[in-house]
Amino acid sequence: MKLRVANLRLELEQDISMLVPLIAERLDIVPSRIKQWKIVRESVDARRKKVYLVYTVEVEIDEGRERIERWKGRHDVFIITGDKRKPIQRGTEKLLYPPVIVGAGPAGIFAALTLARWGYRPVLLERGKDVESRVRDVNSFWNAGQLDPESNVQFGEGGAGTFSDGKLTTRIKDGRVRDVLAQLVEAGAPEEITYVQKPHIGTDRLRKVIIELRKKLLSLGGRVIFQAKVTGFRADNGQLTAIEVNHKYTLPVQLVLLAIGHSARDTYEEIYRLGARIEPKPFAIGLRVEHPQELIDRMQYGSFAGHPRLGHADYHLTYRSQRFGRAAYTFCMCPGGYVIAGASEPDMVVTNGMSEFARDSGVANSALVATVSPLDFPGDHPLAGVQFQRHWERKTFILGGGNYRAPAQLVGDFLADREATLDGALVKPTYRPGVVPANLRRCLPETVGATLAEAIRYFDTKIRGFGHPGAVLTGVETRTSSPVRIVRDDSMMSVNVGGLYPVGEGAGYAGGIVSAAVDGMKAAESIIGRYALPRSDF
Ligand code: FAD
Repeated sequence: MKLRVANLRLELEQDISMLVPLIAERLDIVPSRIKQWKIVRESVDARRKKVYLVYTVEVEIDEGRERIERWKGRHDVFIITGDKRKPIQRGTEKLLYPPVIVGAGPAGIFAALTLARWGYRPVLLERGKDVESRVRDVNSFWNAGQLDPESNVQFGEGGAGTFSDGKLTTRIKDGRVRDVLAQLVEAGAPEEITYVQKPHIGTDRLRKVIIELRKKLLSLGGRVIFQAKVTGFRADNGQLTAIEVNHKYTLPVQLVLLAIGHSARDTYEEIYRLGARIEPKPFAIGLRVEHPQELIDRMQYGSFAGHPRLGHADYHLTYRSQRFGRAAYTFCMCPGGYVIAGASEPDMVVTNGMSEFARDSGVANSALVATVSPLDFPGDHPLAGVQFQRHWERKTFILGGGNYRAPAQLVGDFLADREATLDGALVKPTYRPGVVPANLRRCLPETVGATLAEAIRYFDTKIRGFGHPGAVLTGVETRTSSPVRIVRDDSMMSVNVGGLYPVGEGAGYAGGIVSAAVDGMKAAESIIGRYALPRSDF
């Protein structure tokens, strides 16, 4: 019989093997009855003076089902009943051409893998370059300020999260999360991502995993074409019929999975021109904040900070400003990481964050953002949120001196709303190609700046030192989530353009690597459940 046993606590100094007597005690059996066990969840409980590691395990035991009665109603012992998902049945509707997937981020890659496994020979078109070439272009931007608008932190194989901390946490509850993590491990990600509470993979390891996923896709009969930007869409009677690539050639299509991410502003314009229903949606903008990692570790773990079994601490803080009616929160926290330049359009500055797997830069960074809604946007055009982002990114570019340096300010000066110097900074700002001191209130809507100031003071009561006057702020963070939603029906198809499946972050239905991947898989399954295998090739 297979069981899941939760809430098993070990002290930091206790060996993992100590779980066996704990499991036996919890199940009221002798340890020799335990045939096999494995950890499926590990989390840190630092709420008390003492820090504990808390485990959930799956156990196979040598006991009859008569024991079940004993565990009924228990909140920490569950009988494993197997995968309850409905198996997919291939559909019968006629499919002329293989499905085309636009965008090789997590949504596009996992959609393609799913379709390829089922024999649909999908074609994956990616405007950027393969990950190896992309890394060179991004480094050239960070080192010399030379932006390639088609090969950057947002565009290229692996998508937007390639230069990230590779956090794999998600709030969605979907059995496919496990499938995504398992496929990442098969492609070389560390095994621990399948059980730690806050898994991360780091940009260094993620890049290698992406190459392995590409090889897998090719081995399953999928095709990948880099530097292939979809520049136009054609529809006939509300049904997609063709796409244009690189302004050069057209491909006849029946099904297109649009997995373009949240930064493909030119493609959003094409989708709007096509007539697909798009709605503006709220997102968040703000700044990146940097502290010494050691300060965060100390505040979260007390005297246990630095213990090898804990790793570096993170945080997630929220606040609501009654005065300005906005929520503020920290987001995409990168322990031991770097603030990075994430622009994808010329003459704009955008911040974001990344870490390597070891999280060892010594500097903690996080986005510190406040919500904005269509009420803040200039006008009621469906793409007004994009205009709003561009406006603040451009202002920030100018404030930084017009050469992709980012404006930066110490928290003390930001709170006082005064001109800045970086003297007395707690950490050396990690943003490349560099920062210039400036008052960051000038690159934010007034009430967003004021909300963030309130939030910093409040967060300082939660993590002492968060509001230290020497903590460093860098601007501006605008690419938190999609500014639009491309509206789709229950089958995940656009509500008014047949054959168009908007998926992932750019469609406005997912946020983060894992949820985007799951969204891509779901759309692929929807297609498999409806269509037969493609009749012909291109
Ligand atoms: P994307 O990953 O954005 O991929 C879209 C792809 O489509 C891109 O490769 C793009 O080049 C391509 N494309 C766009 N237009 C076209 C076109 N017209 N033709 C062809 N190709 C096109 N999330 C996390 O969960 N954890 C993190 O730690 C994390 N850190 C992040 C750090 C950074 C710096 C950034 C930018 C994002 C981070 N995110 C993180 C968010 C995460 O990356 C996204 O939620 C996720 O990548 C969305 O996946 P997606 O496939 O929907 O879109």
